Amino acid sequence: MDPIQMVDLKKQYLFIKKEVDNALEEVFSSSAFINGPVVHEFQNNLEAYLNVKHVIPCANGTDALQIALMGLDLKPGDEVITADFTFAATVEVIALLKLTPVLVDVDPHTFNICPDEVERAITPKTKAIIPVHLFGQVAPMEPLLKLAEKHNLFLIEDNAQGMGAVYTFSDGTRAKTGTMGTVGTTSFFPSKNLGAYGDGGALFTNDDQLAHTLRGVVNHGMYKRYYHDVVGVNSRLDSLQAAVLKVKLKYLDFYNERRKEAALRYSQLLKDHSHIETPKRSSDCDSHVYHQYTLRIKNGKRDDLLSYLNQKNIPCGVYYPVPLHLQKAYFNETASESQYAVTNRLVDEVISLPMHSELSKDQIEYITSAVIEFFR
Ligand SMILES: *Cc1c(COP(=O)(O)O)cnc(C)c1O
Repeated sequence: MDPIQMVDLKKQYLFIKKEVDNALEEVFSSSAFINGPVVHEFQNNLEAYLNVKHVIPCANGTDALQIALMGLDLKPGDEVITADFTFAATVEVIALLKLTPVLVDVDPHTFNICPDEVERAITPKTKAIIPVHLFGQVAPMEPLLKLAEKHNLFLIEDNAQGMGAVYTFSDGTRAKTGTMGTVGTTSFFPSKNLGAYGDGGALFTNDDQLAHTLRGVVNHGMYKRYYHDVVGVNSRLDSLQAAVLKVKLKYLDFYNERRKEAALRYSQLLKDHSHIETPKRSSDCDSHVYHQYTLRIKNGKRDDLLSYLNQKNIPCGVYYPVPLHLQKAYFNETASESQYAVTNRLVDEVISLPMHSELSKDQIEYITSAVIEFFR
């Protein structure tokens, strides 16, 4: 059995090495390192894959979130609601733009933002909601879209962990995550479901006017060379990353299927265990692409399990160990802890097992037997 990795990018590369090497060589020989034709080709392919009118590539997923907020022309003091249980990038850009982050609790079983909590948090100052498709599972978009419409709010989908997941509305309509709100964002960080070999990100929208604005914001606020109409940033996806991503996009569904198979196998082997809650999927098998496979450990021994598995050369992660409302940078003294009962519990209970498209059956069996052995 090969050593177990949290993500096995090397094995994944070896499988597509020829294609990737050729694509990179093309960029090298053209020397069009910035804004080369392959950036456009990848953009078009991703638009087709997601069935969205506009993809705007940028430098990383954090920039994508920031650019989305800049493009919506939010003003200091405007409130933006997001989840207390997520990666800090989401709240970081809200604070950076002097907007007011309003953190709300999540669902204890899907870990996703809770629409009832969002509704309770809406005030006359609220301007936007940012749901995160956390760990690769679709957030409850239908109720969130209804709230956004009712209160005239922007809805920004942070799809950094959910590339390729599909949401099904109650009327049977289906849409890829990232394409349902005002604007969607993603990250191509190497370990994400669609990962580059460096940093990368993108925004998605069906709104022509907003797409035009965003294309200016990513490029110094220029719509005509050296005429700066809005305050912008310099945030580009470079040609080398686009070349890698163009190859890997063809495999995204395959990678996600492999993740789903691994998740299914984990859940079968760990089911009916009194101290373990396996991940709950809220809808059909396309609704979760398992960026992470995250267990809840119910007997208070999460940290002991973590060290036990590490001793057995099984890497694991705790995403995330501290709720955002308790992080020093975002600490809110007016918040009451009872508002965050679920997140406060999750940070002590969650553990993410190795999850990637190259996990073998042997490795999954080794990992699950170690987990079960620990509780014996
Ligand atoms: C990874 C991630 C980001 C940030 O992406 P970068 O490309 O690393 O800047 C933002 N939000 C979520 C939920 C993420 O998982």
